[in-house]
Amino acid sequence: MSLIVQKYGGTSVGSPERILNVARRILETQRAGNQVVAVVSAMSGVTDSLIKLAGQVAPHPTEREMDVLLSTGEQTTIALTAMAVNGFGGHAVSLTGAQAGIVTDGFHTKAKITNITPRRIHEFLDAGSIVIVAGFQGESFEGQITTLGRGGSDLTAIAVAAAIKADLCQIFTDVDGVYSCDPRIVKSARKILEISYDEMLEMASLGSKVMQSRSVEFAKKFGVIFEVRSSFNDQPGTLVKHETAGMEQVVIRGVSVDRKQAKVTISRVRDKPGVASRIFNEIATVNVNVDMIVQNVSDAGTTDISFTIPADELPKIEKHLGPIVTEIGAGGFAAQAGIAKLSVVGIGMRSHSGVAARMFELLGQAEINIQMITTSEIKISVIVDEDRVDEGARIVHAGFGLDEPDSPGNAFLEPAAVGGNGLQK
Ligand code: ASP
Ligand code: MG
Repeated sequence: MSLIVQKYGGTSVGSPERILNVARRILETQRAGNQVVAVVSAMSGVTDSLIKLAGQVAPHPTEREMDVLLSTGEQTTIALTAMAVNGFGGHAVSLTGAQAGIVTDGFHTKAKITNITPRRIHEFLDAGSIVIVAGFQGESFEGQITTLGRGGSDLTAIAVAAAIKADLCQIFTDVDGVYSCDPRIVKSARKILEISYDEMLEMASLGSKVMQSRSVEFAKKFGVIFEVRSSFNDQPGTLVKHETAGMEQVVIRGVSVDRKQAKVTISRVRDKPGVASRIFNEIATVNVNVDMIVQNVSDAGTTDISFTIPADELPKIEKHLGPIVTEIGAGGFAAQAGIAKLSVVGIGMRSHSGVAARMFELLGQAEINIQMITTSEIKISVIVDEDRVDEGARIVHAGFGLDEPDSPGNAFLEPAAVGGNGLQK
């Protein structure tokens, strides 16, 4: 007998029929001889409409009341799911976050789980019940209802799995798993069978937003192995876990595309301490998220600084750039939308060289111009024109052998066959 945590996202419980479908799955899992805890989200669209409702009665509702309101979305789903299971002749009980023993800090609307006392969960499981837990919510030490930030049901599932030492944690969603690239861009993209936490984090932050990043970090910290799979079919999904030696053999796990970026270049910035801080503090005050930052080697005491931001944030900072350029005595600035980020991700990069060289070669042969480059230990990202990025993704996906199911990501090299090009990547 295994102890299984299943999480069902908003789309999976988005209608009465879908809740019945979920109830059937949960019951089947139990009847196969397992103990089951199911964590559910609010039905799709509910959290958004609650936020909208709040805005219609008050311009700035307090965060405490927002939490009282938003937690009702998940509370609705747990009751309906438990009713559905019971309607099928099973036995399920619903528990709110507080009832399930999920204790958080007091930061309303973005609380952190501080600990879980799963006593009640265990009692109900031991009595033969299925336990349905509300995702996304908890209770602070002071007894207040809190929520965990958007997408927080993932975190509830991972944290509960860690607390009850589940044998398996399954994240049911509306996609089949994590793919080597977005299948809408690369038709030959494959479902990845196993991926390391770090690769998953890079893929998630790069726009393949299958799961909330915070929950993946949590899973990594507590060693919770989980599977991302679809609630609409019975296909196995993607297993996310600590890296294994075999995983390192694969150089590139996936390719990812981040559209709708904009690039800003401030030219002839004086090369002295405090200038970069001044620029980026100004941008931070208007709450714009800066992604890549590139500063050139200085030439005659000045340097160019370029950075990227989401394109729709450009209007927010444009009016700040002129004054800042004047204040720091820079040459000027240029802003350009219509660019996109193309990245390759893989822990195998740590032990294989020549990956960057290969990626640049592939793009160069296709005459796709690289405008900016950044790297991390397991990722290489380039900025290219947005209208070439899909083509670039297809070329890179094929060029690293990701199109072929049997030689994932390492078609082009053996560690010994490359090197000598001066690049660690
Ligand atoms: N219902 C919450 C949201 O929409 C939490 C979740 O779905 O994970 O963000
Ligand atoms: Mg959700």
